[in-house]
Amino acid sequence: MSTKKSLLELASNTTPCDEYDPNSMPVDQARQYIKAFLSPVTKKENINLHAALGRVLAEEIRATHNVPNHDNSAMDGYAFNADDLNEGLTRLKVTGTIFAGNPLTGSFARGACVRIMTGAAIPTGADTVIAQERVETLDDSIQFKDVPTRGANVRRAGEDLQAGQVVLNIGHRISPADLGLIASLGIGEIKVYRKLRASFFSTGDELASIGNPLETGQVYDSNRYTLFGMLSRMGVEIQDLGAIPDDPILLEKTLIKAAESSDVILTSGGVSVGEADYMKQLLQKLGQVLFWKIAMKPGRPLAFGKIGNAHYFGLPGNPVAVMVTFYQFVRQAMLILMGELKPASTPMFNVICTTPIRKLKGRTEFQRGILYTSEDGNWQVRTTGNQSSGVLSSMSQANCFIVLNDDVGNLEAGATVKVQLFDGVI
Ligand code: AMP
Ligand code: MG
Repeated sequence: MSTKKSLLELASNTTPCDEYDPNSMPVDQARQYIKAFLSPVTKKENINLHAALGRVLAEEIRATHNVPNHDNSAMDGYAFNADDLNEGLTRLKVTGTIFAGNPLTGSFARGACVRIMTGAAIPTGADTVIAQERVETLDDSIQFKDVPTRGANVRRAGEDLQAGQVVLNIGHRISPADLGLIASLGIGEIKVYRKLRASFFSTGDELASIGNPLETGQVYDSNRYTLFGMLSRMGVEIQDLGAIPDDPILLEKTLIKAAESSDVILTSGGVSVGEADYMKQLLQKLGQVLFWKIAMKPGRPLAFGKIGNAHYFGLPGNPVAVMVTFYQFVRQAMLILMGELKPASTPMFNVICTTPIRKLKGRTEFQRGILYTSEDGNWQVRTTGNQSSGVLSSMSQANCFIVLNDDVGNLEAGATVKVQLFDGVI
């Protein structure tokens, strides 16, 4: 199941795997199949550090020097040699001042100390810093109130990074902290994988585009907007191919156009029962696409495969199902396609749910939840109410999914549930 060949086998259904049941595909199983058939981008490009947020490293980053590159003070205070205090002295003469970026001119005299600011280089001969609050100043001297241990308040050269050390690996996606880390090495340009190109379009005769009046039986095409938002967050190149009516000629033309210019094609609608045969024929003519009924709610119908070199995700039409399937299947797959080697899964944690939950066993449900702090300061979750997969306002109100596994049934208020936070992800 880990080779591309088995996609073809599955698609043609000649030698299906034992576990392969397209009419009841467990969520994890579908994730595994998808993962096995991804071909990440390989082309690399050099970019300026300013443009690197969210991009994936195509070379490892090594420390070019120690960070920090000299021992420096962690406090505003006084630098001295601890041996001088061991010899019974509790008072040292202040012989100079050192600011960050301005090393001491001249030499540091033993038996004395220098005033030193945070970040300033520790002068040769000194090894300890005492905070200014812990001394009394007397004319040109300081009197110690207590004696610090040797090395106190000194940040050692290389304590953050050591010269030559691998700091970030190939396949790592750049975060704001990484930008700073790379900058701390003086590196202003890095090699990353090229951006992933994603095209998407909606399907359906009932779709109206914004700007046109809504005729009887029509709905405005909202899926293109949620898809646009979710893809934008991922930092991929986006091509919006519009809303396409359920017309085989137009659909074929649009799929071919998308496949020529994209690494990923996303469509919404047209993969549920009744419509599936229609898209199915088209997709199987143009590529290798599997149609699954996932044991989940929302998001039961899902198509996945390849059209030319492009990876294809046929998402359901229902607005909530589009978001759930994107979040549960597409996002992780796209991170891998972008070159990320170990995309972290979104953290899940347990909280008490304060509303009862209706849930059928035998499928995974992703109910919309609102995580909030109760009066006693603990995090709790409640559902958004109506869980129909057409109710997009539930996604706007929610800040998390309540993830209910196959073996979970109805739950009373007060039960512990797993939640998965949205914020910053979708
Ligand atoms: P389908 O999967 O094509 O059968 O669509 C399922 C439901 O989702 C239908 O009620 C459609 O009207 C609705 N739907 C499909 N595509 C969109 C879209 N782009 N925007 C809003 N609703 C849609
Ligand atoms: Mg449709």
